[in-house]
Amino acid sequence: MQARAKSVYENCTVLDIDGNMLFRASRKRLDWYLSRNLATEINDTTIQLSFVNKGTGRSTEPFYLQDMQNICVVCGTADGLTMHHVVPHQYRQHMGTAIKSHSSFDLLPVCMRCHDQYERHATAFKKHLEQCFQAPLEGRGWIDRRDIHQGARAAAALLSPHVAKIPEERRAELRQTAQAVAQARVLLFSDSAHTCIESWRNVDPERSEHREVLRELCEMEARVPGPDFKSHGEIVVGAVGGAQSSCAMCAECKAMVAGGFHALMVSWRSHFVLHARPAHLPQHWVAEYPPSGE
Ligand SMILES: [Zn+2]
Ligand SMILES: [Zn+2]
Repeated sequence: MQARAKSVYENCTVLDIDGNMLFRASRKRLDWYLSRNLATEINDTTIQLSFVNKGTGRSTEPFYLQDMQNICVVCGTADGLTMHHVVPHQYRQHMGTAIKSHSSFDLLPVCMRCHDQYERHATAFKKHLEQCFQAPLEGRGWIDRRDIHQGARAAAALLSPHVAKIPEERRAELRQTAQAVAQARVLLFSDSAHTCIESWRNVDPERSEHREVLRELCEMEARVPGPDFKSHGEIVVGAVGGAQSSCAMCAECKAMVAGGFHALMVSWRSHFVLHARPAHLPQHWVAEYPPSGE
């Protein structure tokens, strides 16, 4: 994990055409409006839109109007800040655009030390969801390509510095296996390897272009996501969105399913509050947000 070089929040301000505060933004965002002649610059950190905007921006949500502090929300340090997704991206990305647009609420500055410490708890919660939702953390729907597995092992043996110690009879078998797999899976190789394979009579690990082919075969993934592959996050969010509870679930997860995406997000925020014990949360930041559950 890398800490951010520049400050997390730039706390710039966007005003509407009548001069009311609409929302906070980065300097980059201000430049976006200015470069399109959609706003005039009031000062270094404030612009005013030159058109009548739709809606009221964030002007009714005090959380989005305040000056945000560039400190770790857990311990208060200003050093080594990273951005922490309170609702992990792997779930949020499957929740649809209405939910995603609130993402800055769930993106908080946390220093690397606190981030590492909390991440262990977050992993434990994910493992809990794995059990209750029958949602393997590695996802479901992998396909094992056994032939590639065998071909890759043969190629690795042929490229090994100890290949001379393998009896010639066995080496011949390995060459045959690698060659057969490469020929059967020729479309998975790079263009140059492809051309080489098509002109093969016998694979010769002494020749550099053949070694290149073997190297590619060696690095090929034997296990790939199939057409019905679903990630852990997708399965959990799918069950919550589709209100599919099961008898394998604990009471908390059943309640989450009944409460929909809002409940899933509130669970993650509550989990963060309980385990990270943040002492420097921004004002107006509460686990139940938006309060009406919209
Ligand atoms: Zn910290
Ligand atoms: Zn559960």
